[in-house]
Amino acid sequence: MLIFKTPKELQTFALENKRAGKSIALVPTMGFLHAGHMSLIDLARSKSDILIVSNFVNPIQFGVNEDLSSYPRNFEQDCSLCKEHGVDAVFAPMPEDMYEPNRSTYVNEEMLSNGFCGADRPGHFRGVTTVVAKLFNLALPDTAIFGQKDAQQALVIKRMVRDLNFPIEIIIAPLVRDYDNVALSSRNAYLSTEERERARILYNALSSAVSAIKAGKNIADVATTFTETIAQKADSIDYASICDAESLEAPTEATTKLILLTAARFGKTRLLDNMLVDLKQIGQKI
Ligand code: AMP
Repeated sequence: MLIFKTPKELQTFALENKRAGKSIALVPTMGFLHAGHMSLIDLARSKSDILIVSNFVNPIQFGVNEDLSSYPRNFEQDCSLCKEHGVDAVFAPMPEDMYEPNRSTYVNEEMLSNGFCGADRPGHFRGVTTVVAKLFNLALPDTAIFGQKDAQQALVIKRMVRDLNFPIEIIIAPLVRDYDNVALSSRNAYLSTEERERARILYNALSSAVSAIKAGKNIADVATTFTETIAQKADSIDYASICDAESLEAPTEATTKLILLTAARFGKTRLLDNMLVDLKQIGQKI
């Protein structure tokens, strides 16, 4: 397995492989890999000749008072996992190799990025779209895999790819949960045992709300109970909402898929979770 530290090395490798007619898949990550990441990597492995995993804690997607410096890292372990799962190349640049001090160009998605995590974390999605666009230009992937765990991010990336005509197929892989149904996340490492216990409420609140929707309950009532249930155990709620899964707006008669999404804090840790409901599949309308 190759390890590239500079953008130039990665781009040269990608260009050589493209010229040789190889297909490339990219899985962007911030490292501290867990089974959620590995599910993306395994899916990508099955889809391409060459599999590139980026491992980069992207400073420009963190706000000033966020956890950039404490973000969990274990590069050696990440590399062994990547090797075991058949990754061809890991890209692990230093921030100064990715960002020139006088950089002045960013990619900005201006609709789906506005609410939810975008409202709570100003500048976050600009950091995400900018680094992902750069990674696309460096790794030249035919396919890139993202996780449903970060549902808003997945929509923003898909929109960027559509709007800017990146010749890349975006695949969104299902959310992977841990033994206790807490969504796997590198940030789970911050949770105390007691916080972890309370964090299970997110899955419970989501599943109860999904069952209530399937039973035909009124969406506004379900949304209220959804929030109240999370509030019983979380220290605070950034958002808990039921919306159209494509637009992230309030559901309308045209909505065919709902997303229930939440960000809540347990101690200092901010956790995300979500579930989808396919209304067509269950023969329902708003
Ligand atoms: P991160 O390292 O947290 O930036 O995540 C890298 C990629 O892995 C993103 O596309 C995430 O959505 C995805 N991911 C993280 N956790 C999970 C999970 N529990 N299930 C599925 N995908 C995940």
